[in-house]
Amino acid sequence: MELIKRLLAGDRRAVARLISMIENNGPEAREALAALYPHTGRAYVVGVTGAPGTGKSTLVNELAKLYRKKDRTVGIIAVDPTSPFSGGALLGDRIRMRDLAGDPGIFIRSMATRGSLGGLAQATADVIKVLDAAGYQMIFVETVGAGQAEVDIAKTAHTTIVVEAPGLGDEIQAIKAGITEIADVFVVNKADREGADSTAMALEMVLNFDHVSRLSSQSPTWRPPICKTIALHGEGVEAVAEAIEEHRAYLRESGEFQRRERERIEAELREMISQEMARRFFQRVGEGVLKDLVDRIARRELDPYSAVAMLLAKMAPRG
Ligand code: GDP
Repeated sequence: MELIKRLLAGDRRAVARLISMIENNGPEAREALAALYPHTGRAYVVGVTGAPGTGKSTLVNELAKLYRKKDRTVGIIAVDPTSPFSGGALLGDRIRMRDLAGDPGIFIRSMATRGSLGGLAQATADVIKVLDAAGYQMIFVETVGAGQAEVDIAKTAHTTIVVEAPGLGDEIQAIKAGITEIADVFVVNKADREGADSTAMALEMVLNFDHVSRLSSQSPTWRPPICKTIALHGEGVEAVAEAIEEHRAYLRESGEFQRRERERIEAELREMISQEMARRFFQRVGEGVLKDLVDRIARRELDPYSAVAMLLAKMAPRG
């Protein structure tokens, strides 16, 4: 495919085209993804999540500039599960555009929800593959803190950064959203503001509790560092990059990199199988049958458990 050739050569317009294809979820997107899959697996993916206003965009911006100085190419995907718009500019993009536009070593893309959240997580994973194949070495995936969507998207990242900031109420937002356990690195941003130290201390306490449960969890020996930053002035950002590199080394040395990769591939495969099975199932059974069943279940003439058994019996090979 001509498009794939151009993409592998790093052609930005080919990258943008393919991402649009993924967002439209067409069959040609799947074909293209299959063709470029052998060229993926080289990029390092960093997830950045946290409540709105904590400074994620500013931080990602500064990290991108830092990695560019180290001569590494950078992809940025900003995911907003709460917004129905896509392809356009999210709030943080405006700042980003001003700072990073015009650098051919950076590719920025916003994505928003279309249909289910599962769909968005899959689309994000696919866009990561596109940027990876196009040769972007560091890929930052920024998500607005909203719970389950973050957790799903974090599973596709190698290192996940959870950003906190003082002054957003007494609670630590990540605890409220139940996302502390996905953090490989914590950042307390806006360290120029009052309350940054107590936010960091509160996180420290969570980690002390959490450490016990972590012993049996995914990263038994990794203790997430807490980095204080003033992203607005680029302060402390170098230390965040160091924490990313340390975590990366930890993943490699502990063998967790491979383990997580296999886990991710398996989850993706299972998800794709169930989607494809469901698609074929309804193609064969017909949507009309479903409506009929819904009517009968609503009238309590039938229960959903028996309905599923009946439908599956129809699918069984005859003879
Ligand atoms: P996001 O919603 O998490 O992506 O947050 P943004 O990066 O858009 O930042 C939200 C606001 O906080 C913006 O007005 C930033 O300029 C500001 N901000 C970001 N970092 C800092 C910081 O270190 N200190 C202070 N005082 N403000 C910051």
